[in-house]
Amino acid sequence: MIPLRYLNTVKSRQHSLCNIAGILKTACLLSFILLSFTLPVWADNLLPLNQKGKIMILEYHKIAYPEARWTRTPENFRKDLQRFYEKGYSLIRLEDFLKKRIKVEKGRTPLILTFDDSSPGQLRFIPDGKGSYRVDPDCAVGILESFNKVHTDFGLAATFFVLPAADPPNRLFNQPEYTKEKLRYLAGKGFEIGNHTYWHATLSKLNSEGVKRQLALAVKVIQEAVPGYSVVALSLPMGIYPQDKDLLLNGSYEGTVYRHLGVLMVAGGPAKPAFDPLRIPRIQATESELNYWIKYFDKHPEERFIGD
Ligand SMILES: [Zn+2]
Repeated sequence: MIPLRYLNTVKSRQHSLCNIAGILKTACLLSFILLSFTLPVWADNLLPLNQKGKIMILEYHKIAYPEARWTRTPENFRKDLQRFYEKGYSLIRLEDFLKKRIKVEKGRTPLILTFDDSSPGQLRFIPDGKGSYRVDPDCAVGILESFNKVHTDFGLAATFFVLPAADPPNRLFNQPEYTKEKLRYLAGKGFEIGNHTYWHATLSKLNSEGVKRQLALAVKVIQEAVPGYSVVALSLPMGIYPQDKDLLLNGSYEGTVYRHLGVLMVAGGPAKPAFDPLRIPRIQATESELNYWIKYFDKHPEERFIGD
């Protein structure tokens, strides 16, 4: 028979153990609640407000298979978006950058996406057989739209530097029956259409009239599809300048006027908000370049543009 006194001691020990466990549980719970309130503030403090910081303007070409120097697969493009999202980046429009009205949520860093050469994998329509279509979920626009549905705070923006008179498959995304519809779709969804010349011209080889012709005719085709559309940016084919650089910003040819707020290069690293409109650098969206710059800004958060 177990003495009563012993039983009482065990009971009271169990009781005090329960108490200790209870106190620990409450303490854990309290610190968890406290931490969840203080963490965002603490994270914000780690990333000081920096409105003069640099902004990455990424330069994609093909979204297709297999992965190569100028090709990112749909899977890798999705992975890029996820990675930038998790690292605190949000998409902004190139036009807002050029007009110096950069706005992102507090604590987040603006990111700009650009696509050169209007290749098929950037915007592909799949006909439904009843006269309508849907956007291919594996093309760049389809991937951006579905990512934005899940992560609305990432934003939805990208600029497509198109070629209206290049040889297929680079002529306006390569589905001639949808050429105008695609330009309207982009503009309607808030994506931007940029100038990449009429047919990817080497501008250094042209005289002034030839340069103006290449720039104005591209604008003309875009505006025929989207009346009144304002083309605000030019991506230089192969990064090659004409002799007279001033022709790149303003000019006209046979009644079509063009007015670019910025000229984008093919490389050069991240851009500064106080940019030279004739020389806006970009980062080529290859695995190694993206790795390099993501790590670079992880190590140098003070160089990042941070929204307030
Ligand atoms: Zn190009």
